[in-house]
Amino acid sequence: MNKEIICIGCPMGCPLTVTVEAGKVTNVTGDTCRKGKEYAEAECINPTRTVTTTVSIKNAMYALISVRTSKPIPKDKIGECVRHLRRIEVEAPVTAGEVIVKDILQTGADIIATKSLDLYQ
Ligand code: SF4
Repeated sequence: MNKEIICIGCPMGCPLTVTVEAGKVTNVTGDTCRKGKEYAEAECINPTRTVTTTVSIKNAMYALISVRTSKPIPKDKIGECVRHLRRIEVEAPVTAGEVIVKDILQTGADIIATKSLDLYQ
């Protein structure tokens, strides 16, 4: 089976044709560098994404603080991850890089704050 995907490894966005047989990538065409083949294999066998979203924060100037996963997580866990984070509320102060949730959904990725928010009185 052939899949047509766009490599997101760099802004060139090479169109890739990926042949998948018995759950394995057997051929990739259209790649301009080796990252294209790596991306095609990851995307067709175990697609992952870094999740960026927000969680509620108490006692800060804003009601939400931006967060992201420390590494990409399986694409099929993104919905559950975002739903889980909707129920989280942290308390100011929070420092950029601080771990908000350790090992989210047993993916091995932490949820980390991407900005700092001070206590607001
Ligand atoms: S194959 Fe290489 S050059 Fe093409 S988009 Fe991917 S990373 Fe960029």
